Order: sequence, then C-alpha cells, then structure tokens
Amino acid sequence: MKLYGIKKSNIDRKGRGLYATKDIKENTRIMDYVGKIITKKQTEESEKFDNSKPIYLFNLNSRYDLDGDVSWNTARLINHSCSNNCDYNGTGLKLWVIAIKDIKKGEELTCDYGFGYDENYKQFRCKCGSKNCCGYIVRAESRWRINKRFSMSLKNNGRANK
Ligand SMILES: [Zn+2]
Repeated sequence: MKLYGIKKSNIDRKGRGLYATKDIKENTRIMDYVGKIITKKQTEESEKFDNSKPIYLFNLNSRYDLDGDVSWNTARLINHSCSNNCDYNGTGLKLWVIAIKDIKKGEELTCDYGFGYDENYKQFRCKCGSKNCCGYIVRAESRWRINKRFSMSLKNNGRANK
C-alpha cells in the first residue's frame, strides 16, 4: 500500500499536495523522485530552466541533472514548507523522498525546496502557515538573512542536491 495520497493542498490552495495515508516513521523512504535524466548541456540550453530557481531540477552529478517536471513524477506535487517533514535524498542517478520526522496519518508531506537567498527571493512567497514560516521560499540555512530569529533553526539534513 502506498504511504501517500493526492488531495487538494492546504498550502498551495490552487494546487494539489500529497498526504500521508498512514503513520510514517522518521527515515522511511516514502517514494521515488523520478523524471528525465538530462545532461548539464541540455539544462543550459533549455529555456525551461531560465529561471534561477527551477523547482523540479536536481543536480545528480557533474554530468547529469534530473528534470522532475513530468506528469509521471508524483513527488513533484509535494509542497514547500518552512517546517518540512520530508526531504529529498539520493545516490547515483536515483532520488527519493524520505521522512525526516514522524508523520501522522493525514498530514501533508512537505519538503524544503532549498532555494538560496538572493535579490529575487520575494518572488516566491511561502504560505506554509507553520510557526517557523519566514514568509518566503528560502532554504533553512539562509532564512536568518530574512529574519534573525531564524538563526536558531539552522540544521543540515544532508541534502544531496540543489
Ligand atoms: Zn513557510
């Protein structure tokens, strides 16, 4: 049985999100993050990735990226949250989504999109609604740049990408 289902999201009110269909323990591998494996050259030449923050593009290694913006990649529906309960993980050309805390049945699955802090950060408002929300989609390690109180929440989940 799948650990997740698709529903209207509480975070992205216009979109969908993924929800836990049963209690999930920390460190559980929930689903694969799949897509098209493309070369760095293809990434550079594609207009699709002109934006400096392509949400679905992952760095796999020095030669290849993974474009997860494909209909068969259900994991692309996971929304960003400042208090994410999942993270991306991977090895070689494989990526997956892992629980970084215990998740209760019915909770929305969320990741940290890992956006860096730069002059464009205000383009991406965060509506996650968590107590820790810094208001924008910026990775945990950079949130102190927006508000000093986030310097307490520094943590490194061993993200292998972005
Ligand atoms: Zn937030």
